[in-house]
Amino acid sequence: MNYNVVIIGAGPAGIFAALTLADLGISGILLLEQGKDLSQRKGQNPADRLCGWGGAGAFSDGKLTLSTEVGGALKDFIEDSVLHQLLKSTDEIYAAHGAPDRIFGENWVQVEELADRARLAGLELIPNRIRHIGTDNCRSVLERFRKSLAERIEISTESEVEELIADHGRIQGVRLANGRSIGAKFVVAAPGRSGARWMKRQAESLGLKTRATSVDIGVRVELPAPVLKEITDTIYESKLVHYSKTFDEKVRTFCMNPYGEVVTEENNGIITVNGHSYAEKRTDNTNFAILVSSVFTEPFDDPIAYGHDIARLANLIGGGVIVQRLADLLAGRRSTRERIDRCLTKPTLSDATPGDLSFVFPYRHLLSIIEMLQALEGIAPGVYSRHTLLYGVEVKFYSNRIDVSSEMETVIGNLFAIGDGAGITRGLLQASVSGILAARAIANRF
Ligand SMILES: Cc1cc2nc3c(=O)[nH]c(=O)nc-3n(C[C@H](O)[C@H](O)[C@H](O)COP(=O)(O)OP(=O)(O)OC[C@H]3O[C@@H](n4cnc5c(N)ncnc54)[C@H](O)[C@@H]3O)c2cc1C
Repeated sequence: MNYNVVIIGAGPAGIFAALTLADLGISGILLLEQGKDLSQRKGQNPADRLCGWGGAGAFSDGKLTLSTEVGGALKDFIEDSVLHQLLKSTDEIYAAHGAPDRIFGENWVQVEELADRARLAGLELIPNRIRHIGTDNCRSVLERFRKSLAERIEISTESEVEELIADHGRIQGVRLANGRSIGAKFVVAAPGRSGARWMKRQAESLGLKTRATSVDIGVRVELPAPVLKEITDTIYESKLVHYSKTFDEKVRTFCMNPYGEVVTEENNGIITVNGHSYAEKRTDNTNFAILVSSVFTEPFDDPIAYGHDIARLANLIGGGVIVQRLADLLAGRRSTRERIDRCLTKPTLSDATPGDLSFVFPYRHLLSIIEMLQALEGIAPGVYSRHTLLYGVEVKFYSNRIDVSSEMETVIGNLFAIGDGAGITRGLLQASVSGILAARAIANRF
């Protein structure tokens, strides 16, 4: 079987590569996805939440971040103004496929006021405009993308690509896990974070240069929604950065979910924590992550393994995710079921094990997290409450960055690497834009 273009991965990067190629009139496109088709995805097991039509985006909170500073490193490849324009037009495609109209963070007076207060508390507020699709709406948006592509390209789900095949510095096609080989003039690899290890192996065997990035390790914080109401009403999600007192380490808030839910996810056999919120359904709580970035140089340069081992420790002790009241952490004792039951913040994740996160985190991470909570108290009183819940471990594994051109092409001719799996992006909108960049470059060569 021979195709003009084979795309690996049906996450936002792969979907937007396919949409753009189809819109530009390119035929002979095959999209291969190892997970299930959208209608079969129930999100009940953690692997299914990350893999399948829609990728990790399908059960995500669907926050489309319109800032060039957030959600990826595309600004290293293209000019800021061009990226800004691309983010805007890509966001409009989401809106045309059913994403809600409202954009948060457009009231600059309120945003400036919050930024001033953040500065006084020792925090930097990164201004950010956001369109919130919501976990419940993500499915219908992805369904519309699926429909729009159904007649124009070939889609094969539950088709895992085992290997990229290249010869004399040029891509030839792919080999599937079932042994079948497929020839292609162009291959676009968009395997996402769940395929990061696979991508790393392929890069090693093809001799692609890669660069280790950072690993972000931390906790998911859950508290009553009124504590952060002023912030979440104004900008929906606040990107706040703090340099911790003791270690002068960069600590940041990430993925804020007003009135949302804490959830688990699986990453290569490890259970970690995450969060999302719905556009319609509301809980009484808001959750967000506090993450500490760690970069390694030499002789150790495997941040993914480091993050895995810390998360594995939580799984070892707690059989999965551990939850602890801040009061218990500060008092040097574990949380028990009884203490959690007495907590004024009612946990939205029922299957976390009450335990002691100080058995899991290195001292520098734990202290930086506590100092970040203290700083946040200065902008939102109530964050540093005895009743604040901490869930661990949350880890953001950023894939090793594959060396690509500004068109997203690797040194292997006609092989493109895009999205989170190539270490180039970290969010829905930038992942989608990386797909557009690769598709435009490919279309130009026909
Ligand atoms: C719970 C959660 C919430 C999130 N919330 C947000 C948010 O609100 N806003 C935001 O911007 N971002 C969010 N993100 C991040 C966002 O989902 C990702 O940045 C985005 O999905 C990356 O797109 P991608 O196409 O690069 O990869 P993915 O979406 O991960 O898709 C990659 C696909 O490739 C498939 N694949 C991998 N290897 C192979 C192989 N060998 N053969 C065939 N198929 C393969 C995978 O099964 C997967 O379906 C969230 C992520 C999670 C997990």
